[in-house]
Amino acid sequence: MHSLTKQFIDNHWVPSRSNTRLAIIDPYHKTPLGETTRGNPADVDVAVTAARRALPGWRATPAAWRGERLSVIATGLERRRETLATLSSRNNGKPLNEALQDLDDAIDCYRYYAEAAVALDDRQGRREEVGQPGLAAYRYWEPVGVAGLVTPWNFPLVSSAWKIAPALAAGCTVVFKPTEVVPLPEQALCEIVLEAGLPPGVFNLLNGDGKGIGAPISQHPGIDKLSFTGSNPVGETVMRAAARGVRPVSLELGGKSPILVTEDADLELARDLVMAGICYNAGQMCSATSRLIVHERLADQLYAAVDAAMAALRPGDPLAEGVTLGPLVNAAQHERVSDYLAQAGTEGLYSETPSPALPESGLFVSPRLYRDVPTTSRLWREEIFGPVLCARRVTSDEEAIALANDSDYGLAATVVAGDPDRAEAIARGLEAGNVWCNSDQLAPPQGSWGGMKRSGIGRELGLEGLEAYLEVKRITRPVSA
Ligand code: NAD
Repeated sequence: MHSLTKQFIDNHWVPSRSNTRLAIIDPYHKTPLGETTRGNPADVDVAVTAARRALPGWRATPAAWRGERLSVIATGLERRRETLATLSSRNNGKPLNEALQDLDDAIDCYRYYAEAAVALDDRQGRREEVGQPGLAAYRYWEPVGVAGLVTPWNFPLVSSAWKIAPALAAGCTVVFKPTEVVPLPEQALCEIVLEAGLPPGVFNLLNGDGKGIGAPISQHPGIDKLSFTGSNPVGETVMRAAARGVRPVSLELGGKSPILVTEDADLELARDLVMAGICYNAGQMCSATSRLIVHERLADQLYAAVDAAMAALRPGDPLAEGVTLGPLVNAAQHERVSDYLAQAGTEGLYSETPSPALPESGLFVSPRLYRDVPTTSRLWREEIFGPVLCARRVTSDEEAIALANDSDYGLAATVVAGDPDRAEAIARGLEAGNVWCNSDQLAPPQGSWGGMKRSGIGRELGLEGLEAYLEVKRITRPVSA
């Protein structure tokens, strides 16, 4: 049994100031894996003090040296790849091969920012003209300061890598809170940062929930920058908290992403991309393509193909060979998705999806495709975060684009079309931060990730992900003779 009653501050494990414990659950066996402290604002205070103390020394190190530390973190994760993926699979419920993919994504991210840090040194002091004889400007990039980082449960070690790696590369010190629902994989980071030789206070990890740790982080005046990934209601409270002291904030929030399929699309490719977009991680993805918008000429064939693929999924123990659908992450998430399925009944939504045989154990729901769903339906408009797909048929690309954009969210989209140029033309019309044409949902570290509209503010990954932790300073001075 895992006991997360301590906080990692100043390179030491110290007892949490809270005596309240929360259970950590294995969603397949529905049994406890251990417990975590709820955390306490006093824990945040101690961690922020440590991070502030460490900041002057850390920001003064060459970025290339910080990059070397990130490479060691990547290697530390690589050495623990199977162990951590197994732990993640048990705690989150995702099939082992998906958890292994997460580990690879996290490792790639630390490696990418290890290199980006070197490039940061190279561009410091870049000379720029000012249009005045005898004067020139020099551009420098400096870390924002102490970064408060908060992540959700659906992609363990990945969401955190997208924040921790660029923050450390930039020269920020970090106060990081993993989710209390799936906190186990991230604990290994503490051992790994010690191996990497990070000075005390540079990386601090606080266990706990939103009340004990999350809100106190976002409200703490000693935090200079907030980066949050999670739900919209919480994102709004983080943004309100950031307003006090005018602190920069990055938000990665929810989605209700569309997948658009034209009449000339390859049927098998369309089916596979629809399935991956709604059943990977049991649909618990911010970028789940949960609205299928298909040309009427292909609609019936695609609906039948998706129904057959959903029925052919193999739900089961996420660690068992060949399992393609795991349970939902916890009872609250199971209740939430079940409520939407009940709502579909109330609204009289139509589905022909056969149910795969579900294991007796585990917090499973049957994947479902609802056909020709009214745009007023709650299932069409709201983020469900489960394997529930709503579909509508259209008669033109223009109608498909308008329908896709008729959403409060704008995180991602997929386009499946026979002609790649037509796919890109459709993609150009979509209000989304990432659009994949005839492709899986790739999110390589050199890319960018983030949403338009209510899906968030700012971008993670790539150089934008690094800029989020940097301030620009421009120094204008006489040119030396
Ligand atoms: P959540 O908002 O409930 O929790 C996210 C994190 O915030 C957790 O660590 C939680 O403890 C913490 N938290 C809770 N209350 C807080 C508060 N008042 N102040 C600060 N922190 C607080 O979200 P969740 O249920 O863990 O994750 C699901 C949501 O995350 C979905 O809406 C999903 O779309 C979104 N998400 C978005 C992305 C993206 O990249 N856009 C990626 C993954 C998940």
